[in-house]
Amino acid sequence: MTLHYDKTGRLHIQSPLMGESLMDKELLASTTTTPVYRLMPDLTVVKIGGQSIIDRGRKALLPILDELIEARQSHKILIATGGGTRARHAYAIATDLGMPTGVLARLGSSISEQNALMLAILLTQHGGIKIGHDDLPKLASYLVLGALPVTHAMPPYGLFEQPPALGRIPPHRTDVGAFLLAEVLGAERCILIKDEQGLYTADPKKDASAKFIPEIEVNELLELDLNDLAVERSMLDALRDAHSLREVFIVNGLERGNVTRAIAGEHIGTRIYRENGHG
Ligand code: ADP
Ligand code: MG
Repeated sequence: MTLHYDKTGRLHIQSPLMGESLMDKELLASTTTTPVYRLMPDLTVVKIGGQSIIDRGRKALLPILDELIEARQSHKILIATGGGTRARHAYAIATDLGMPTGVLARLGSSISEQNALMLAILLTQHGGIKIGHDDLPKLASYLVLGALPVTHAMPPYGLFEQPPALGRIPPHRTDVGAFLLAEVLGAERCILIKDEQGLYTADPKKDASAKFIPEIEVNELLELDLNDLAVERSMLDALRDAHSLREVFIVNGLERGNVTRAIAGEHIGTRIYRENGHG
């Protein structure tokens, strides 16, 4: 890499991106020629739903933790937590008070973090340790030391969260947060543990005629434009554009054994995958 001044006097460091606005489409496309480096290709990111699991309390949560304690003997696992009902309460009050989306995102993040703290404490005897986003580059070392790391799944957009096209609720919450974590870490698998068999054509709690979808390509799912979903729409966008991860699983954690089987690589619940795109 050499330094040089162009004829207008601007300083450049010689590189393929030299002097570019980083907006040119051809130039952007050229940045995908090197395969993306996968930090932890044997990692499984397991998000435990806030509303769907944690808020149900010990009856729903403890058997899942037992399965995770067992599974971590043979698999590298990062646990990520959702927010749940308390986040919804905070969103409702904050919306009534006229708070902008970025403030709601900050509130949701603290609640997801509260859940991470409780899970880490419940897992203390098994190496449970609550970690923050700054600790993620140390994840491999934590695992070597025998720790069982738990982090909050809310992505760190915080006050910078983009207001959504519809309404004011932060569009990037804990499903997309868990997915993006798995993506940046180059993980093998991302599993979202919830309280239904997986994805249906409608919310099975509200519509008895809803049909189960065992497997679907992400672009097809986006095209269906379902009125309600078991995962955040932003997670589907993230999967469509991902460079490393190719699929995500929605698994019913209320059924014993599902978490173990999903971590072992079985197709349990709904598999949403991408056919094309990067990587
Ligand atoms: P979590 O707490 O894991 O984030 P959510 O409660 O936010 O879970 O989302 C999961 C819930 O979404 C399910 O319990 C289900 O009632 C609801 N849901 C809405 N639409 C669908 C759908 N199309 N398929 C499956 N579940 C759906
Ligand atoms: Mg949710």
